[in-house]
Amino acid sequence: MPTEELRRQVVIIGSGPAGLTAGIYTGRANLNPLLIDAPADTEKQTTPGGQLMITTDVENYPGFSEGIQGPDLMVEFRKQAERFGTEFLEEWINRVDLQSRPFTLYTDNQIIKADTLIIASGASAKWLGIPGEAKTPQGFGGNGVSACATCDGPLPAFRNKHLVVVGGGDTAMEEATFLTRYAKRVFVIHRRDKLRASKIMQEKAFGNDKIEFVWNTDVIAILGTPEQGVTGVHLRKVQTNEDIVFDCEGVFIAIGHRPNTGLFKGQIEMDAVGYLKTNGHSTATNIPGVFACGDVQDSVYRQAVTAAGTGCMAAIDAERFLDHLPIEMPSGEEVTIEGEHITADRQLIITATGEVIQNEPMPE
Ligand code: NAP
Repeated sequence: MPTEELRRQVVIIGSGPAGLTAGIYTGRANLNPLLIDAPADTEKQTTPGGQLMITTDVENYPGFSEGIQGPDLMVEFRKQAERFGTEFLEEWINRVDLQSRPFTLYTDNQIIKADTLIIASGASAKWLGIPGEAKTPQGFGGNGVSACATCDGPLPAFRNKHLVVVGGGDTAMEEATFLTRYAKRVFVIHRRDKLRASKIMQEKAFGNDKIEFVWNTDVIAILGTPEQGVTGVHLRKVQTNEDIVFDCEGVFIAIGHRPNTGLFKGQIEMDAVGYLKTNGHSTATNIPGVFACGDVQDSVYRQAVTAAGTGCMAAIDAERFLDHLPIEMPSGEEVTIEGEHITADRQLIITATGEVIQNEPMPE
């Protein structure tokens, strides 16, 4: 049972570019933000620092003309957030209550009360859901199957081996290119005959003579033994339904990511995939005082720089909200806390405790 209770004006969930940028901005605004990040856990797929911690070269983050390693960039983000007073708490959040104010977050050891909440919990790698993919001992996860080349590629088990990368996006191209540093050969298996990856990443992969492409092919099972780990994949040709057993010693799944929003189910409006809905002009969710930024609300751009940008927006939105200035909600309405705000067609009154006591169309 949680024992200690903390109360903060701003609580941020997540320590990727979005969460840390929100920390930098709310810290500089003297709001003493508390940033909660989950401890590293491969089972729960949590990585403090977010997805850049498992990336190598970041060549497109502005300000680094020669590029920078993802983990090095995140160290700088974190130091900058600390410099302006962001406080860090590394705990897994078990439950949130966003129905009453202040909002309440429950961890194993703490109850945290928040006047505003900035959600920057990011996204996690997707899996195919095929036989052999689950964690050892059910499958070969951790014994030849991985969703992170930069984390696992350098391991002895993958060195000088034939490896498979599944997917056709930038992640797959990046993983395949990275793996050629260690592997004998890398086979990219893609379900279509065209890549989704950006031109530059495609060209890099096409130009790498250690990478081979297997087109129009689904991976339907991962094969192996507990002693040897992965020994191959069971493939099916999309057009002919032909089945093939393809020998390999490692499989990297690189088919994209899904937003980490399970904690907010039933409380915050989401789209069909689970991305939190925000207003295009602000980071407001449907709950006044709860803001979302980064990959948890962005299914389109999903870049470190856009995550950082929306982290800045969320910080400014939280600041405005705490200052009783209007915030534009996903519905298009504008709300203020503790006061009245009139939009073109609606009038909202919210009390200091956040209760919406009036939400009416404007009188004629
Ligand atoms: P993505 O662009 O959504 O690509 C996912 C790929 O996996 C697609 O080719 C898709 O096939 C395939 N796929 C999805 N589900 C599958 C399934 N069940 N079975 C087989 N194949 C499946 O995801 P991403 O590559 O992770 O990239 C996401 C975003 O991050 C993009 O905006 C990307 O630009 C960015 N990113 C950038 C960098 C970089 O600049 N260094 C690196 C990584 C990612 P279809 O093509 O047939 O749909």
